[in-house]
Amino acid sequence: MSYNQLFDLTGKRALVTGSGQGIGFELARGLASAGAEIIVNDIDEERLTKAAQSLRDEGAKVYELAFDVTDAQQVNDSVNGFEADIGAIDILVNNAGMQYRTALEDFPVDRFDFMMRLNINSVFYVGQAVAKHMIERGSGKIVNICSVQTALARPSIAPYTASKGAVANLTKGMATDWARHGLQVNGLAPGYFKTELTSALVADEEFTAWLSARTPAGRWGEVSELVGACIFLSSAASSFVNGHVLFIDGGITCSV
Ligand code: NAP
Repeated sequence: MSYNQLFDLTGKRALVTGSGQGIGFELARGLASAGAEIIVNDIDEERLTKAAQSLRDEGAKVYELAFDVTDAQQVNDSVNGFEADIGAIDILVNNAGMQYRTALEDFPVDRFDFMMRLNINSVFYVGQAVAKHMIERGSGKIVNICSVQTALARPSIAPYTASKGAVANLTKGMATDWARHGLQVNGLAPGYFKTELTSALVADEEFTAWLSARTPAGRWGEVSELVGACIFLSSAASSFVNGHVLFIDGGITCSV
């Protein structure tokens, strides 16, 4: 392979969970632009169809796979069905996730449980279901979406911090168990990006002023700025990168 093909994803097929909008959608767009066929997933079927159409309008080959990432049975049925009926999933981006902000002493127990199911259990469910097939083939790429909260806490989001710390450690565990089977499993940790998940913070001028002062780059991130790292971790360019968490955060985790 010549070095200028290191980032080429032609002939690969990528499943991106929660790709109906936000970061997942943009990562799906990015992987498609590098040549991959895309399997979009979301729990919201209407949003999924809209996202898929928008990618097709840009020339991508797109499959729609609606399932709830927190339901292990649905995950297994969907992944096994796709592998049997259509073919291999070469790249998995575990992106679906949620945020809920409230003081830790008042954090509802059912919200905590739900957040863990969505932010960390799902990474195990979808990762395991897809990896079984990747292991049989002796190759595969998994990118788990972590967060700046993988490394740092912030008031009112302790459970989210716990879940994203766990995603990073599960990433290391997956890499440790599965690298010998030819898989590369890595994490991508976004700092603060403008999406639906952060809309309350984007609307908060005081928070934006604080964030701009706190971040060495001095601003919010644009979701397009996550794409290069995702292509890197999904491509031959990262063939000896295992269990790494790559922070894309304008430097916020490197300075106090
Ligand atoms: P988002 O705009 O809320 O998108 C998340 C998507 O996942 C939504 O379309 C959501 O659908 C879908 N989803 C939710 N539950 C699902 C389920 N059970 N099964 C399948 N899909 C489901 O969030 P985002 O900002 O793009 O965040 C994406 C990932 O990046 C998350 O893991 C988040 O923690 C992480 N992250 C984001 C930031 C940031 O600044 N935005 C920073 C660090 C990390 P519904 O809306 O219908 O629930």
